[in-house]
Amino acid sequence: MKRYLVTGGAGFIGSHLCEALLAGGNGVYVLDDQSTGHRHNLAHLFGNRELRFIPGSITDAPTLSRLVGTAHHVIHLAAAVGVKYILENPLESILTNVVGTERVLQACREFEKPLFLASTSEVYGLQTHAPLRETDYSVIGATSVSRWSYACSKALDEFMALAFHHQGAFPVTIARFFNTVGPRQSPAYGMVMPRLVDQAIRDQPMTVYGDGTQTRTFTHVADCTAAILGLLAHPEAAGEVYNIGGTQEISILQLANMIKLQAESASEIQLLPYDKVYNSNFEDMPRRVPDISKLRKAIGFTPTMSLERIITDVISDRRAALVA
Ligand code: UDP
Repeated sequence: MKRYLVTGGAGFIGSHLCEALLAGGNGVYVLDDQSTGHRHNLAHLFGNRELRFIPGSITDAPTLSRLVGTAHHVIHLAAAVGVKYILENPLESILTNVVGTERVLQACREFEKPLFLASTSEVYGLQTHAPLRETDYSVIGATSVSRWSYACSKALDEFMALAFHHQGAFPVTIARFFNTVGPRQSPAYGMVMPRLVDQAIRDQPMTVYGDGTQTRTFTHVADCTAAILGLLAHPEAAGEVYNIGGTQEISILQLANMIKLQAESASEIQLLPYDKVYNSNFEDMPRRVPDISKLRKAIGFTPTMSLERIITDVISDRRAALVA
């Protein structure tokens, strides 16, 4: 039996991944400080004896060392998440991403354990090329715009991890997650899908930021999990960076209309200028679409869920969460 250490395993993506790893007959250690993840995301799995939940931080080097030493493979998902959360906790977010990841990398080096590193489409920054390829330049904005600290810190994580890989210290695979959505994603950290769905269910104004023409693609967490498992099982992925994302590009205004229709909501759609939501220093990406041909070629990945199906899933998850 293979044992995985999943940092951030009590988070939204982490909890789905742990579920899939356990279903595949693996053992799972979860290290999570519950800053944005929660123990209850794993509650349905606590009956499985192969799951161990260790509350704690990736900056706790002795705990990390003990866990990395006994695991066969490390999956590093622990990171600050959500634009809103990052803007409200900029220093903590940078330190988690830089100091925390450095400790994870040092522990992997000590025990020569392979690492899967979760990164983000945020590293492309203001790059306007579409679709975005893994080799495209990062276009990071000014340091006075706090949002870019996240992109910069995750890019640094990638540089550090690839440097260890190229030194022959341990194999590293990196995935850049594009907007990933689905059951158990909290609206608390600013993500658009659960926020708009909650507003629609409650017949409250649906807040579309800016003029709503900015576009994204959305991946169901089940597809994202399948892609991670595919990469874990693909030894040639070591030393490589892969986009994981959806292919159906949609503007946020169109998304709000789809959600309103599918939730049969009486909500109004309200356009809110960015400076009313964040501050005058906020910058958004006008367009973010992944090129997933590298991932497709490596593991045959194609997203299976349509946007309509994804929205249906999120609506039923949020309806259940709101009555609970
Ligand atoms: N957004 C929005 N209303 C919300 C939350 C977000 O219009 O209540 C917009 C946000 O400005 C961005 C897009 O939706 O253009 C996606 O936001 P999210 O924070 O989910 O992810 P991002 O792609 O910005 O990392």
